[in-house]
Amino acid sequence: MLNQPTFTALPPLALYIHFPWCEKKCPYCDFNSHQIKDPTSNLVGGFDEQRYINALIADLETELPNTWGRQVHSIFIGGGTPSLLSAAGMDQLLCAVRARIHLEPDAEITMEANPGSVEADKLAGFAKAGVNRVSLGIQSFQDEQLKALGRIHNGAEAKRAVQIALDHFKSVNLDLMYGLPNQSLEAARSDVETALSFKTPHLSFYNLTLEPNTYFANFPPKLPSDDEIDAIFEQNLELLTKAGYKRYEVSAYAKKDQECKHNLNYWRFGDYIGIGAGAHGKISYPGKITRQVRERHPETYMQAIETKGNALIESREIATKDLPFEFMLNALRLTDGVDTNTFSERTGLPLSLINKNLDEASKKGLLDENPSKLKPTALGLRYLNNLQEMFLD
Ligand code: SF4
Repeated sequence: MLNQPTFTALPPLALYIHFPWCEKKCPYCDFNSHQIKDPTSNLVGGFDEQRYINALIADLETELPNTWGRQVHSIFIGGGTPSLLSAAGMDQLLCAVRARIHLEPDAEITMEANPGSVEADKLAGFAKAGVNRVSLGIQSFQDEQLKALGRIHNGAEAKRAVQIALDHFKSVNLDLMYGLPNQSLEAARSDVETALSFKTPHLSFYNLTLEPNTYFANFPPKLPSDDEIDAIFEQNLELLTKAGYKRYEVSAYAKKDQECKHNLNYWRFGDYIGIGAGAHGKISYPGKITRQVRERHPETYMQAIETKGNALIESREIATKDLPFEFMLNALRLTDGVDTNTFSERTGLPLSLINKNLDEASKKGLLDENPSKLKPTALGLRYLNNLQEMFLD
């Protein structure tokens, strides 16, 4: 029989805000994003901005008891395409957040943006509203690849968007994809070199995968072979390392001290409140850790808030037996892993519970033998799923 989690202190707390609309749904995307269908004159950008902001604020108010006595160190406004919000709307939203929660003075506030919706005036307005980090969904700088991915921007627009973002924000991340339809090693190299030419402090490289319930799952494009994808990955890693970026997570690369605080909090099994359509949250209490999920469809979400006062569709305690796996699922994505004591701090359980699994993983060469770290080896990172599964119940 496992004990209940016991915490010496609650984990750090972050806030995620979901914006669920995009101009067009990309064929590979399985995020909770909905194409704007009705750009009529009384709607801002084809969605009712004020109605959604009102719902977000009301949603945040339902979570306030979870923030009492705690500071929030980062906010991530993700989507969808949050840069479709107006600057005034962003200002209203962030003012409402600041009035309700205790936000650290130097909190990281990231907004995702797409090159198609980046304008200089608007970005200046987002910065004025308090956004201090922008993550741009570039995916590729090449017209042909962008077309194959069904993106609405082209290579020139991508480059222009990066420049505008850098003019307004010190902290900029570029999201890129590799393993794209018919992508050659040379084409992949050109994307990395273009990305590096902007010297942004953070870069993310995701392998394109065919996710269920997407257009690409039903009509798969021709992707490079596994060997070709491995070669592209190795090339990316070499180019990025040479340029001074450290791969600190499976897909994330940063210059010194430029890691994304918000994402580090997920990987270190911190707490987060999630508001907005389909948002997920994780909150620790003395004796338990819970997960929350909200109504996924934007209309259903707003109606639930407006009629019932909350949009939760699930709020469940994570079974104690599942905590070690959930922790390792996140922590082992980090190339430097985490300090050993983070396990007890974040799960509220003694490390001795997983001693056997740790030994086994070390013997297989998947886990570093340093006793003060829970850190994957190079082999462990390569076979991450196998390593993580060793901590299943
Ligand atoms: S822009 Fe991003 S969130 Fe929107 S559909 Fe495309 S991949 Fe998904």
